[in-house]
Amino acid sequence: MNAGVRPEGEKEARRSREAAVLRRMADMLKQGAVMLNLQCPACSSPLFRLRSGEIWCVKCQKRVVIVREGEDITIAASDVLLTSLEQTLLRKLSEIDQMIKVEEDPARLRELSSLLSGLLDNLEKVRRMTRR
Ligand SMILES: [Zn+2]
Repeated sequence: MNAGVRPEGEKEARRSREAAVLRRMADMLKQGAVMLNLQCPACSSPLFRLRSGEIWCVKCQKRVVIVREGEDITIAASDVLLTSLEQTLLRKLSEIDQMIKVEEDPARLRELSSLLSGLLDNLEKVRRMTRR
């Protein structure tokens, strides 16, 4: 009997989360923010420009940075993206760490350690970018 009740509850929860986002959007408009013709790269919801000039995603509740490259506008939800990138790299690093521990073939170990060093380089780059 409960089987039919639970999905309905989840749907309710999602609907109330969406309602909360809409309410926040309405509040932002009231405060003088402008809805832009741009989407958040992380969640695809419309972006707002605050009176301070900052671009904001209401759903992620994060600031979105717009980088102009010539005529093109590239949107980088820098915080969202870099955080996810950092987590991916850390996860891969720990996987490789586990592999190295049990690997005994020298050729394979060389491969793994060069992989490891590439990942560490990338991790360093990502961390440098997040510490602006
Ligand atoms: Zn978003």
